[in-house]
Parts: sequence; structure tokens; C-alpha cells
Amino acid sequence: MKRASNASFITQPRRWLTLYWRYGLWLLFASSLALLIVLGHQAAQAYQVAINPGDPELGTTFSVVVQAENAAATEPPVITLDDERRFSSFAIGANRYRALIPTSPLDRPGEHIVRVIGQEPTRNLTVWLRNRSFPTQRIRLSADRAGIEGTDYEFDRVDTFKQISSPEKYWNGPLLRPSTGRVSTPYGVRRYYNGVFAEDYYHRGVDYAAPTGTPVVAPAAGQVRLVGRVSEGFELHGNTIGIDHGQGVLSIFIHLSRIDVQEGDFVQAGQPVGAIGATGVATGPHLHWGLYVNGIAVDPEQWRSQSID
Ligand SMILES: [Zn+2]
Repeated sequence: MKRASNASFITQPRRWLTLYWRYGLWLLFASSLALLIVLGHQAAQAYQVAINPGDPELGTTFSVVVQAENAAATEPPVITLDDERRFSSFAIGANRYRALIPTSPLDRPGEHIVRVIGQEPTRNLTVWLRNRSFPTQRIRLSADRAGIEGTDYEFDRVDTFKQISSPEKYWNGPLLRPSTGRVSTPYGVRRYYNGVFAEDYYHRGVDYAAPTGTPVVAPAAGQVRLVGRVSEGFELHGNTIGIDHGQGVLSIFIHLSRIDVQEGDFVQAGQPVGAIGATGVATGPHLHWGLYVNGIAVDPEQWRSQSID
């Protein structure tokens, strides 16, 4: 090794090459290994995400269930849809969170981007939203009928109700039918007014026709958070009840003849809360049941037939 200690690498390129092959390769190997370990470590700490149902169509509520790998992570991740809408997630188990994503007939069918953003690396997923055709109605508006537009008071109170998202989860299993009446208008019906397609309109609920006085029951447990009466200015909705089922899931009942609950009451699934009527703007006695998920009226039938837990 005497020669090596006296050697100059500049004047001895052969020696330099030998060293390169001996140590350079080791360096390359070691750094690759380090990279693999880092990548592997990151993969182990990335959110595991499941979307259900995986083949949603317009009107479907889909859940995004996120399993955090890092036990130290405590903040629930935020879910975004197409970088436009943000949804809170709620803990449903150890390091496990769920957000409910509403869709409606106004959404664009096709590919959508779901991002899971939080303490672990962002996960990006694509969801294919299937198209669905909804029945249409042709409405002829007379000048006087078009004049009933509701009061600011009722719209303010209904809008405030629709924004409720409480952390508790009150519903459990599939929702119950709130009325024994036949379905007179299904969810999602689109309209033409005087021959012009109403881009923003869709029937934001299900109508059940039954005689005035027929009981209406809570489709799931929850807390009554809205009671509105014709006498207070609910001139379009009529007598109204809003129930908070928790975590952004809400029921609204309108056109009631009778209200049997008060704001703040907790109700159980199947508990009578009021009765069918034709108050507000209604052509005949019926219950309109709107099911809102994070502010959007979704198809209640999915919630009736499936357990979204
Ligand atoms: Zn309706």
C-alpha cells in the first residue's frame, strides 16, 4: 500500500478507475438501497383508501374510507372532489375516517378526481360517475302561479339547516320509508318550464301521496334542528321539519299538516314526527322528503336499500 499512499489520482487514472469500481458501485448500491427504504417507508405511511360504491351514478352518495397508517396521525383527512368541493371526514374507528360525497343530476357524468389530503402523503383517485336518465315534466306556468316564490325567512332557515354537519352519527343501517303513501314523484325528475329546460332544477327528494293526516315517521334517528310553520312565513315549503342524522346527513319534510316535535328533540327511527298535508305550494296532500348529504339533495332510495355505515 506504499504506492497508493504516494499516488496522485490525477497522474494515475487507472488507480482512480479501480477505486471507482470498488467504491463507486458500493456507493450506488447503498444509495439505491436507501432510496428503496425511504420509498418503502413512505408507502407504509400512505393512506389506504376505499371508495364505495365503486360505480356511482348521478344521485349516488359514495363513501371515501381512509385508513391512516401512521398511528400518530390525529387530524381527520380532508377529501376534495375535482379540487372544487371539500368534505370533512369523521373518525369511524382506530385511525379510520370516512367522508360522504354527494352527487346529483346536476353533476357531470364521467371521470372525477378524489384527493385525500392530510398528515400522510396526498392520495389521488379517479371515480367514474355513471350517467343516469331522469324522468322529465313539462310545466306550464301561469303569471299568478309563478308569483309564489317563498319568503327570505324560510329560505334563510332552510339554507342554515342544510349546512349542519355535526360530528355524531345518529343513523344506523338502511333508512326507513317515512310514509306508507305511494311514490307520486321520484327523486331527480327534471323540468321544462313553458318549453325551456330548467338547467338548475331537479326534484330534490321523493314525494309520497297520501291523505292529509297520514303519519310521517323519522327515517332514521336524529335531532330535530328545524321546525318551520306557515304562520311564521314558510309560505312555499309549508309546515316543515328538519332532522339532523349526523355527519352531514339531514332529512327535510315539507307540506306537513301537523308537526308533533320541537326543535332540539331527539327522535328514533320510525318515530312519528308529523302528518302529511298540502301546506305551502302543493297541488295535493303529499310528503316531500329531501335527503341532504353535505348540502346536496341525494337519491334517498340508495339509502333505503343500502346500509351506508
Ligand atoms: Zn317533492
